Amino acid sequence: MPDFRTRVLVVGAGQSGCVLALELARNGVPCVLLERASRPPGRPELAVLRAAARDHPLIDLREGWTFTGLRLEADRTVATVIDRGTRARHVVEAEYLAGCDGGQSTVRRSLDVVLEDALPVDVSRLLEATPWDGALGIARTYRRGTSFLVGESAHRFHPPSRSAELSVRDAADLGAKLAAVLTGRGEIGLLDSYEGERRPCAVLEREALIRALGGPASGHPTQDHVNT
Ligand SMILES: Cc1cc2nc3c(=O)[nH]c(=O)nc-3n(C[C@H](O)[C@H](O)[C@H](O)COP(=O)(O)OP(=O)(O)OC[C@H]3O[C@@H](n4cnc5c(N)ncnc54)[C@H](O)[C@@H]3O)c2cc1C
Repeated sequence: MPDFRTRVLVVGAGQSGCVLALELARNGVPCVLLERASRPPGRPELAVLRAAARDHPLIDLREGWTFTGLRLEADRTVATVIDRGTRARHVVEAEYLAGCDGGQSTVRRSLDVVLEDALPVDVSRLLEATPWDGALGIARTYRRGTSFLVGESAHRFHPPSRSAELSVRDAADLGAKLAAVLTGRGEIGLLDSYEGERRPCAVLEREALIRALGGPASGHPTQDHVNT
């Protein structure tokens, strides 16, 4: 038995998670928004977004709560989360789950989705100085069942370049689609278009980044990494 149920469980209250939660709320759809950090964010633009999410009556923001794993069922996602304040473990049943938990995404790992790198060798050398593994990785798929990857959990670029803009657009796109489906204004098939519309944008952004770094655009991926 779940400890509680929600229409949408949003994991991570960074830019992507806050924008997604606010888009759902703007369309009358409630959600639970989990954030493992208990302190307010340092970056001013994120602090504003987080405050807007905290103040919205349809957003149940839980700071200091960590997502630890999930189980996909035919028509829902069942997640396990830990409230660091009480150390209690909770089971949450969600009609949909959005992984907005950043480049090291636990949601992506739980869904067993690999990040594909497409690094031509010379660009790979350019990036040697960075501490990032999988510096230009894009998730092979943005969706499994009723769970989705959004923002940096779906594409992890270093240097980050226009990553924030890409992430916010992912979140607004998925938020609008989930809201349409959950309020009966859209067919369930609408959700299939999320990956088809957003993943190519990440691929284009990666190609622009590679060109900016002095390498050729990557028509042919040279290696697949499994980055967790
Ligand atoms: C140093 C640095 C510089 C950057 N500079 C630029 C720039 O110049 N231009 C640009 O466009 N972008 C830049 N970015 C990237 C930009 O910040 C991100 O693209 C943007 O914030 C969107 O990220 P996100 O919300 O998808 O993920 P994040 O911002 O990483 O947010 C993820 C959130 O999920 C939370 N979380 C993680 N795991 C869990 C869990 N298990 N349970 C609950 N919560 C969890 C995290 O605490 C975090 O709040 C930069 C990033 C960094 C780190």
